[in-house]
Amino acid sequence: MSISDNLLKFKKELPGHVKLIAVSKTKPAEAIREAYNCGQRDFGENKALEMAEKSTQLPGDIRWHFIGHLQTNKVKYIAPFVSLIHAVDSLKLLKEINKQAGKNHRIINCLLQFHIATESTKFGMNLEEALEMLHDEGYKNLNNIRITGVMGMATFTDNTDQISREFAQLRKVFERLKKDFFSQAPYFCEISMGMSHDYKIAIREGATLIRIGTAIFGERNT
Ligand SMILES: *Cc1c(COP(=O)(O)O)cnc(C)c1O
Repeated sequence: MSISDNLLKFKKELPGHVKLIAVSKTKPAEAIREAYNCGQRDFGENKALEMAEKSTQLPGDIRWHFIGHLQTNKVKYIAPFVSLIHAVDSLKLLKEINKQAGKNHRIINCLLQFHIATESTKFGMNLEEALEMLHDEGYKNLNNIRITGVMGMATFTDNTDQISREFAQLRKVFERLKKDFFSQAPYFCEISMGMSHDYKIAIREGATLIRIGTAIFGERNT
């Protein structure tokens, strides 16, 4: 199946409230252009320099999603154009994003990443850490960032009950934060969860953004 066939299949299958992010990491600009020509506009990358490089080669109306672990010293490369940073897991990082967003006269949308999987290699905060951050005076002064929701990755397993439980947990975190911090903020509305192997479960559990790489572009180039 070609990239366009794969995209068409997703377009037919996805409910209207779920946005597809085509994860193009390791893929060349031509592959992204093929998806773009089918109408796809949201693309996900996990390396700052790779994303910055591709953004200069491709049309300006692409919405670039940064989905990986972001080091503070790399924020400056993506701050001029990034559409949504999915994986914010510390106040330190949020402060740097705020600073770089200010330099570019922008407000950058961010998601808080939560650790919902059993693997210790996956990044993310727990609920206590997030509550502490949202109560911090340092957070309240950040005028160039906007937190628009949460993101998480489930354990890589065939156990679908476990995946469901982990996604349900992320949704609960979202609802808790919505109630306690963002009840007056309609922009706090995104739950980014689900990849090629588990997106159907994620949608059942309330995903609004799914991040799909392999099922669109095929196996990654290494
Ligand atoms: C690579 C990646 C994806 C896409 O994974 P696939 O299994 O190829 O769909 C989604 N989210 C994150 C955070 C990733 O790093």
